[in-house]
Amino acid sequence: PVTEELKAAGRRAAELDRAHVFHSWSAQDTLNPMTVVAAEGSAVWDGEGHRMLDFSSQMVNTNIGHQHPAVVKAIQEQAAKICTIAPAHVNDARSEAARLVAELAPEGMEHVFFTNAGADANEHAIRMARLHTGRHKVLSAYRSYHGGTNLAVNVTGDPRRWSNDLATEGAVHFLPSYPYRSYFHAETEEEEAERALEHLEHTILLEGPGTIAALILETVPGSAGVYVPPAGYLRGARELCRRHGIMFIADEVMVGFGRTGAWFALDHWDLDPDLITFAKGVNSGYVPLGGVIVSEAIRTTFGERVYPGGLTYSGHPLACAAAVATIGAMREEGMVENAKRMGEEVFAPRLAEIKEKHPSVGDVRGLGAFWAVELVKDRQTKEPLAPYGGSSEEMNRVVGALKAGGVLPFANFNRIHLAPPLNMTDEDLHTGLDVLDEALCVADEAIG
Ligand code: PLP
Repeated sequence: PVTEELKAAGRRAAELDRAHVFHSWSAQDTLNPMTVVAAEGSAVWDGEGHRMLDFSSQMVNTNIGHQHPAVVKAIQEQAAKICTIAPAHVNDARSEAARLVAELAPEGMEHVFFTNAGADANEHAIRMARLHTGRHKVLSAYRSYHGGTNLAVNVTGDPRRWSNDLATEGAVHFLPSYPYRSYFHAETEEEEAERALEHLEHTILLEGPGTIAALILETVPGSAGVYVPPAGYLRGARELCRRHGIMFIADEVMVGFGRTGAWFALDHWDLDPDLITFAKGVNSGYVPLGGVIVSEAIRTTFGERVYPGGLTYSGHPLACAAAVATIGAMREEGMVENAKRMGEEVFAPRLAEIKEKHPSVGDVRGLGAFWAVELVKDRQTKEPLAPYGGSSEEMNRVVGALKAGGVLPFANFNRIHLAPPLNMTDEDLHTGLDVLDEALCVADEAIG
């Protein structure tokens, strides 16, 4: 229960926020941010004390939910022991976090370079690939997101790149495999994979394989639409990279650490990338942490040669202690297995019913605890309920109905994403899906 004191503190925080906080990705004068005064497990409480079910896991990072006691305790204990130490020193929390992360990665990937978050993990992975290959360009997909820093936002393939594009970073974009809105006029998954790979191969040949250092792909693209790749696509892309000496970077920032019902999403397709980037779920974002897992070949390149990169907080003890405790809690409580079950037993059947019932639903798709509902004006034409890169009155009303029903979603353009903590109870999951079911009537009405 939220006390009157907490509410008063929330009101004061909201005033100070408006007076002093400059927010991300926003026009500052148009904002009306929700105050959060408490968070626990799968729920947060707003400034008026309303409980909201967190179907966003914030930025799809609180995979273990809020305030997991084992992780809070590990951070407190580490803080009492050593809050911070330079990356050049050995530190037990960092060593153990690296061991655990490497243990979860595919065979032969034994070394981890820690960063502060996902964007800088991608920046470093690309830097490593460039130095390893002696090449410059980076291939990435349209409809992707790789982070907000200079290079990471330039390889990003969504509207967040448009105002930041320097066109000098060597980023080359290709069309992704996006079965629902196939760019290749494919009617089956097989056709989609085959034609998307053909397009990728043409892009590589036309750009000049000898100029391409890396291909970076989100294993399952996240904020760009949770569009699960068709069977064979990722392995085919990996093969093309191998054939042309291009480093394959799997961006597991959003999908790593259980989100899709496997420790890494690449486990679903038995992928063996040259580099894996991670952040978010590694410690559920309790303390900022990201990193790059490197193959033996790349580790060897920097055996004798200096790796020219680093960060003051690389492998920060508080963040690493949180990662050790998070991975431990996820294992003990079977959270990854639960995410898989949740996908198969709750999301897949319930979203199929929801699609059946609501004409505004064009597509539902996902894996584990990672789903998208794509809203359209017309199922035949697939015209989106909000334009690419924009919002609409109709989408705002759907999101409003979800929030009024006590559900915090992640909404983007014409899509509602559902990404709850991996340990949300089935009761809460069903409650949230009931609210979604109801909220979609607003969209049905809007499209008449
Ligand atoms: N890569 C992917 C796939 C992401 O989803 C994100 C963030 O949402 C990033 C990279 C960037 O991570 P960060 O915001 O921690 O820098």
